[in-house]
Amino acid sequence: MKNYHDIHSHSYYSGCGRDDPHLMIDAAIAGGITHFGISDHNYGIGERKAQYIEEINALKEEYKGRITLYCGVEICTCNDHRAPADGEDFAGFDYALMEDIDNDNTVATDLIGYAKTFKCPCGIAHTDMFAYCEKKGFDPLEFFTKMAEAGMFWEMNVSYDSIHHYREHEYVKEFMRNEEQQRIIREAGLRVTVGFDGHRVEDYLPERVIKMNEFLENNNFSKNY
Ligand SMILES: [Zn+2]
Ligand SMILES: [Zn+2]
Repeated sequence: MKNYHDIHSHSYYSGCGRDDPHLMIDAAIAGGITHFGISDHNYGIGERKAQYIEEINALKEEYKGRITLYCGVEICTCNDHRAPADGEDFAGFDYALMEDIDNDNTVATDLIGYAKTFKCPCGIAHTDMFAYCEKKGFDPLEFFTKMAEAGMFWEMNVSYDSIHHYREHEYVKEFMRNEEQQRIIREAGLRVTVGFDGHRVEDYLPERVIKMNEFLENNNFSKNY
C-alpha cells in the first residue's frame, strides 16, 4: 500500500478551526490518507498543551491499524502576542510547522537557530522558500542543505477551502513546474511534506493531498515526515 501524508490540519483547538478530531481523521481515512497530522495553532492550544498532547496520543491508540497519526503544532512567528513566549519549547510534540517567517515582523530572524529552540522536528508552512532565500541573500542550495542537516522540512501546502478563500499557493505551482528548484531541493536532501491545512471537514479535498504525494514520489523527493 502506498503512503499518503497530510500533516497540516486544524481542529477545535484553533480559533479558526471547529471540528472534533474524530471527524477530521475519519475524513482522512475515507479519502485514502495513511498518515495524518493535527497541527493546531500554538496560540489556540495556549495553556492546554498537556491536554492537547494527551488527547491526540489517545487518538493514535484508538485509530491504530487504520491510520498513523501525529501530534503537531503550527507556530506563529509574528512579533506579537501570538508568538510563543521566549524560551517556550514544544517537546512532546511530533513536529512543529513554522509560519509567517517571511513577515517583516517575524521573530525567526535566525530561522534554523529559532527552530532548534522548539525541541521537536520543525518544518516551514506555506512559504515560498526560494523567494525567502532571495530576499535574505542566501544561496538556496547552501541554505536548504543547512535546513536538512538541522532535520527541518518544507511544506507543499495544497489548501483549497473556504477559510483560505479558495486560494491556491503559487509557490507550490511554481515548484511543480520548475525543475531547477526541484533539483536544488533534491540535492540539498531537504524533506518535503504535504499539508491541506484543513479547517472545515466539509471542505477537505484528500485528492489534492494524494496528487501532491504522488508528484513528490514520482520525482524522487524524500517526503515522509
Ligand atoms: Zn498557517
Ligand atoms: Zn494552518
